[in-house]
Amino acid sequence: MRKIAILGSTGSIGTQAIDVALRHSDRFEVTALVAHSSSEKLFEQVRLVHPKIAALTIEPKEIPEDIKNSCQWMFGSNVLLDVVRACDADDVLVSVVGVVGLAAVMETLKCGKRVLLANKEPLVAGGELVTALSREKNLPLLPVDSEHSAIFQCLQGAQGNAPERLILTASGGPFRTWQKEDIYLARKEQALKHPNWVMGRKITIDSASMMNKALEVIEARWLFDMPAEKIDVLIHPQSVIHSMVEFADGAVMAQLGTPDMRLPILYAMSWPQRLETGGKRLDFETMNALTFEKPDMDRFPGLRLAYDALKAGGTMSAVLNGANEVAVDAFLHDRIRFGQIAQLVEETMLSIPVIASPTLEQVFECDLAARAKANELLSSSRFAV
Ligand code: NDP
Ligand code: MG
Repeated sequence: MRKIAILGSTGSIGTQAIDVALRHSDRFEVTALVAHSSSEKLFEQVRLVHPKIAALTIEPKEIPEDIKNSCQWMFGSNVLLDVVRACDADDVLVSVVGVVGLAAVMETLKCGKRVLLANKEPLVAGGELVTALSREKNLPLLPVDSEHSAIFQCLQGAQGNAPERLILTASGGPFRTWQKEDIYLARKEQALKHPNWVMGRKITIDSASMMNKALEVIEARWLFDMPAEKIDVLIHPQSVIHSMVEFADGAVMAQLGTPDMRLPILYAMSWPQRLETGGKRLDFETMNALTFEKPDMDRFPGLRLAYDALKAGGTMSAVLNGANEVAVDAFLHDRIRFGQIAQLVEETMLSIPVIASPTLEQVFECDLAARAKANELLSSSRFAV
């Protein structure tokens, strides 16, 4: 029986994690649930899984009578760290969105608990520090992001042979076939319609701009200790191959499956065992074709920025991430055009000096500096819609 805490339980990943945990209730006990403000949804989850701790950053007006005394309730802006410290979990699924998860990932490792990592922004901003601490504590970082889970699964069969190249697949998002000018002017409803996956709003916008793949290149750089030049991105619109690994002899191993996050979530929870997810199986007989395309960095400049950030090193990826969080929020609030997201990120990256091998405090400072700069640029006339 493994005890699991879910940070971000009311989100897309969090709800699917509860689904697979309940499916295998003989193996997993959900011991803590944390969300931001979705109190009604959290109340339902508390009734369903009976955690020992339930927490929200924003305290609700009241807690329903039936669950008031069923668990310990925690509230406040520091609740992610408070729950990580207080809970009796073996594993902490970090599935909040944004760099806010970085401190929680570090604290989980410090407490000697395993991290199941969906939240990619912490590795983008502080990958060097997170991976160093995971090595120091001898605790694996179990990837939940489907591409990284795929690579992790391929490496299980590698018998210690180091990969020569990682190939991250990408669906290409809703604008894969669009002209550059049309992408620039894309509307919110169009960007929020992902062809293959149903996800939270931030990652859905990131997928449309291909900034999601940029974040994933940086995530892969740290998770698998691979230099940027050995990490390629390949457009694969069907989202059947979730990523691939190439070896010295030219052999390529891939992980395939239907686009269903319950598989990578459950694999991180049950690794190295495989358990039933309740998802659909691949049907090769009705599959028409698996196709591949080279990504277009001109139409999707966000992807290029990942390689620029890794080349610059140090805090540049934290700057990319902080600026992107501001840009996505601005787009979702109709303050900028879709095509301005990458522009805002790039201009911010060009104006914040890099600190090599930063401390955690310096990473947070650079994140704040990037947000301040991006907000300053946003209020300039060039970024008016
Ligand atoms: P959602 O927006 O659906 O969910 C985010 C969750 O985090 C919600 O439970 C939200 O609570 C909670 N949350 C947000 N901020 C805080 C905070 N400050 N303190 C506590 N809880 C907080 O996101 P997704 O589930 O789509 O994504 C989560 C992470 O996983 C992201 O980093 C994303 O990139 C990554 N990921 C997601 C995939 C997917 O398929 N969705 C695939 C691969 C990676 P509330 O509901 O109260 O706001
Ligand atoms: Mg992914």
